[in-house]
Amino acid sequence: MPVLRVALDLPLHRLFEYRAESASTADAGLRVRVPFGRGERIGVIVEVVEQGEWPDEQLKPATEILRDHDPLPHDFFALCEFASAYYQAPFGEVVLQALPVGLKRVAPPNRRAGRVKKAQMALAVPALTEEQASAINKIAVDGGFSAQLLYGVTGSGKTEVYLRLVEQALALGRQVLLLVPEINLTPQLEERVRGRFTERTVVSLHSELAEAARERNWRAAFSGEADIVLGTRLAIFTPMPRLGLIIVDEEHDASFKQQDGMRYSARDIAVVRARQLSIPVLLGSATPALETWANARDGGRYQLLTLKERANPEARLPTVRIVDTRKMVLREGVSETLVTAIRQRLERGEQSLVFLNRRGYAPVLACPACGWVSRCQRCAANLVLHLADRRLRCHHCGFENGIPKACPTCGNQDIHPFGRGTQRVETWLQSEFPEARILRVDRDSVKSRKQWEAVLEQIHGGAADILVGTQMLAKGHDFPKLTLVGALGADAALFAADWRAPERLFAQLMQVAGRAGRAELKGEVLIQTQYPDHPLFGALVAHDYTGFAATQLKEREQAGFPPYTFQAVLRAEAPAMADALAFLESAVRLPTIAEHEQVMLYDPVPMKMARLANLERAQLLAESYSRPALQAFLPHWREAIARIKSPSKLRWHIEVDPLEL
Ligand code: ADP
Ligand code: ZN
Ligand code: ZN
Repeated sequence: MPVLRVALDLPLHRLFEYRAESASTADAGLRVRVPFGRGERIGVIVEVVEQGEWPDEQLKPATEILRDHDPLPHDFFALCEFASAYYQAPFGEVVLQALPVGLKRVAPPNRRAGRVKKAQMALAVPALTEEQASAINKIAVDGGFSAQLLYGVTGSGKTEVYLRLVEQALALGRQVLLLVPEINLTPQLEERVRGRFTERTVVSLHSELAEAARERNWRAAFSGEADIVLGTRLAIFTPMPRLGLIIVDEEHDASFKQQDGMRYSARDIAVVRARQLSIPVLLGSATPALETWANARDGGRYQLLTLKERANPEARLPTVRIVDTRKMVLREGVSETLVTAIRQRLERGEQSLVFLNRRGYAPVLACPACGWVSRCQRCAANLVLHLADRRLRCHHCGFENGIPKACPTCGNQDIHPFGRGTQRVETWLQSEFPEARILRVDRDSVKSRKQWEAVLEQIHGGAADILVGTQMLAKGHDFPKLTLVGALGADAALFAADWRAPERLFAQLMQVAGRAGRAELKGEVLIQTQYPDHPLFGALVAHDYTGFAATQLKEREQAGFPPYTFQAVLRAEAPAMADALAFLESAVRLPTIAEHEQVMLYDPVPMKMARLANLERAQLLAESYSRPALQAFLPHWREAIARIKSPSKLRWHIEVDPLEL
C-alpha cells in the first residue's frame, strides 16, 4: 500500500509516514490533512513510496490529500533542503513556513476567491544615464547563473536599472522576484513597478497582508499568473514556475535576516536559489553589507557594477559636515550650528530632518535622590519614557506601566527623564521654532501602512517644515524639498562592543544623508559628534564607502571576524541563568567535538540582553576559518545537543551566520 512521507511543522528532523490507498507518486508536493495526536494537521507530501520505514500496520491513514493547487515543484524542495541543512532547521518547519497561513489551516474559512488587481496609470520611462546603461549591459538576463552587486550611491537610479532588467526578463517570458526590506516603507517602489508594467500582473507578499490576500497572491505567484512578485524576506521561498530573475534591493538591510523560528538570511538564500535555477541574481545598495562587498571586490564571487553619480543631472550628493560639539553648549542635544541651519531652511521654505535613532521621550526615568531607574521587571533593560501617551514602556518585551508620580523606592517627587528620544527633541524644537510645522516619524507615530502613506504625502505636499525621525526615514525616499539633515546621538555606536556597530552606523548615516538634495536644491548634512577626527566621519564627509569598507574589512581580517571567519551561535534560555550556562557547558564538552579540529568553541557567556521577558539567556559561539568545516560540524553537534538532558523549561536554538552576538 502506498505510504506518504510527509513534512509537518514540528521541531523534529524527520518526515512522518501515513498510509493512503489511492495515492500515487504524482501526489508528491501536494498538501495533506493527517491525524496527529488528538487532532489533525496539514502537512506536505514529500514522497510517495511503496514501503515506508515503519511497518504498514503501525501507520495511520491520511485523512485527505488536498488537490486545490499543483504539486509543489522539485526546485522548491531543493531550496528547502538547502535551507534546512545550512541553517540546522527541521525540514518540515522550513517547508511549512514557506506556505501562507491559509494553506495550513485544517478547516479553512469559507471566503470568496478575490482577484489579483492590475494597475492602471502608466509612468514615463527616462532615458538611461551612461552608468545605468553600462551596468545593464553587463548583465545577461538569459545567460544562466550570475550574481551581481549593483553598488550605486543614493539617488544614482538603481531602481531604473532594476526596472530595465525586469523588462528584459518579462520579455523572455520569465517571472521576477523583487525583494525589499520593508514593503510598508517603500510604497514609492511598488508604485513605480506597477506604473511601469501596467499590462503585467504584479503581486506583493509580506507579513502585513491580510490572510486571504496573502494566499491569493501566493497562489498567483505559484500558478505563474503573477509576472512580478514584490516581497519581503518571506517571499524568497515562494515557488514560481517561470522564475528568471531575483533582485534584492537594499541588500545590506538587517530585515532580510529572520530573527526567530528559522533564522535565515533571505539575501543569501536568494543567491543560492538563483544558482539552483541557473538564473541571475542582482543585489543592490549604496552601502553594501561588508560580506557582500568582500565577495564583489577584487573580482570575487559577485560581479561589481558601480553607479557613482546621481541620475538626475541637477542633483548633487549633499555636503557632509562634522559639527564638533566638544566645546559647545547644547540645548536638548542640539547645537547652535544645527539650530541656525534649520532657521535658514525655514526662511527659504525648505525642509529639515533631525535624525535620532531612538524613539520615545527619554530612554529612562530616574530618581536623583536614591538612584532608582525605571527598569523592566521582565528584562535586563530600562523602561523607556513615552510622554505622548504617558507610559513607561519596554522596547524589548512590550511590558508597560503608567508613570509614577514619585520615586517608587524613596518617595521623592522630583524624578527626571534622562537622555533623549525623538519625542523630547520634537517638543524642544517646537518651543524653539513655534511657527514651524513639525512632524515626528517613528514607530510610535507611524504604525500602519496607511499612516505611513499619509506621512509621505504630508512631506511631499510641503505640509511639514521639520521632520524628527528614526531610521524609518532613512530608507529609499525622495523628498525634493529636503535640504538639511542633522544627525544627533551618532557617537553611541562608535565604541559599542558589537563590532558590527560601525558598519550599521555608517550605512544609516549614508542612507539618511542620501535623503538630502535629491532634486535641484543642494543638500547639507550636519553630524554632531564629540569625536570629529574619527575615521568613520572622515569617510562620510568624503562619501567614501569603498575606503570605509576597506578599513573595516582589514580590521576584521586582522581580528578574525566575519567574513574572514564563519560563525554559528548556540543560545539557551531558561528561568535561571545557571541552567542556561550549565546546558551550554555540556554542549562544549560533548565527546564528538574533538573530531572537528577546525572548529573552535568559545566559553558560554550571558547574552548582552541577559534577560528577556523573564527568561535568562546565554550563548556559545562556534567559529571556523572554513565554512565547509563549520557546516560539517553543525549537524553532528546539533544531534548531540538534542540528547543533552536539560530542565523542561530550557529552550535552545542554533543560529548560523548571526548578525548580532
Ligand atoms: P536610488 O535607488 O539609486 O537611490 P532612484 O532609483 O530612487 O535612486 O533614483 C533617484 C532619482 O533619479 C529618482 O527621482 C529617479 O526618478 C531619477 N532617475 C533615475 N534614473 C534616471 C535617468 N536615467 N534620468 C533621469 N532621472 C533618473
Ligand atoms: Zn528615589
Ligand atoms: Zn521587557
